[in-house]
Amino acid sequence: AKRAGRGTLCFFDPDLDQVTRDRHVLGADLRDALALDQFELHYQPVYAAVPRQLIGYEALVRWRHPTRGMISPAQFIPLAEETGLIHILGAWVLQTACHEAATWPEELQVAVNLSPTQFKRDGLVKLVQSCLERTGLHPTRLELEITESVLLDETLANVSILKQLQAIGVKIALDDFGVGYSSLSYLRSFPFDKLKIDRSFVTEMPASREAAAIVRAITTLGHSLGMITTAEGVETQDQLDALRKEHCDLIQGYLYGRPLPAAQLVHKVNKVS
Ligand code: C2E
Ligand code: CA
Ligand code: CA
Ligand code: CA
Repeated sequence: AKRAGRGTLCFFDPDLDQVTRDRHVLGADLRDALALDQFELHYQPVYAAVPRQLIGYEALVRWRHPTRGMISPAQFIPLAEETGLIHILGAWVLQTACHEAATWPEELQVAVNLSPTQFKRDGLVKLVQSCLERTGLHPTRLELEITESVLLDETLANVSILKQLQAIGVKIALDDFGVGYSSLSYLRSFPFDKLKIDRSFVTEMPASREAAAIVRAITTLGHSLGMITTAEGVETQDQLDALRKEHCDLIQGYLYGRPLPAAQLVHKVNKVS
């Protein structure tokens, strides 16, 4: 018998059992995926809002599973965190992103997502440093995206890691801003370089006055703290117009480009339109 939610007992839940078994199989596949070279990075362009200009890319990991096709990071990152694989996967992502970015025009930056789990092991600063040294990427071209959960436990230790990274010249962005538990208090703990406004607010613009007001408040707050703001998930011209009106600095979303493999990127650095 398995214990279900709310303390009730049920004897067999075939759906749950299937899900558990599925995760188990996927977890085993995940362990081999790195050695089998099944991961790849796709890069989504980030543009200045006005004038429109390419600033750089966010690296997003993909898993090309031999039988299941492309598996979303939303599915396998949590699994990698549970199994501890995130440490080698994260190191691979960082190394690969720095390596590829080093071949781009030098005004372009690359943003890499860090899992909170990666902060739980010593050596994150050393890892970043060695990736930069090995690839020759200038530190100011690398941005690391974290979520507020990094500042939830071990706040002092993690703030110290973030400060060491900033001291090297690396930029730190706070991802998914606005949807967490107590977002504002995190801005006191650490001087982020950038706030990434969560897609859920952008999606509701311009129809929702509330969403627009929140975006305006985040942008104003960010600017007064010396941070720049990125809007994520921008899909329509109407959203873009509304975000420009709220003085959001950077734009990322399907309107300007989907994540693409490195080989398909076209770096139109000086294009202004
Ligand atoms: P995120 O960091 O918030 O990344 C943005 C997600 O939104 C990406 O999904 C991106 O493909 C998607 N997106 C971008 N523009 C649009 C748009 O206009 N409309 C819509 N509907 N979606 C858009 P993706 O690539 O599936 O990644 C999901 C999440 O997985 C990421 O969310 C991030 O939390 C995590 N992730 C991805 N790559 C890595 C990685 O290398 N390391 C770690 N630790 N996490 C990663
Ligand atoms: Ca991100
Ligand atoms: Ca995000
Ligand atoms: Ca997210």
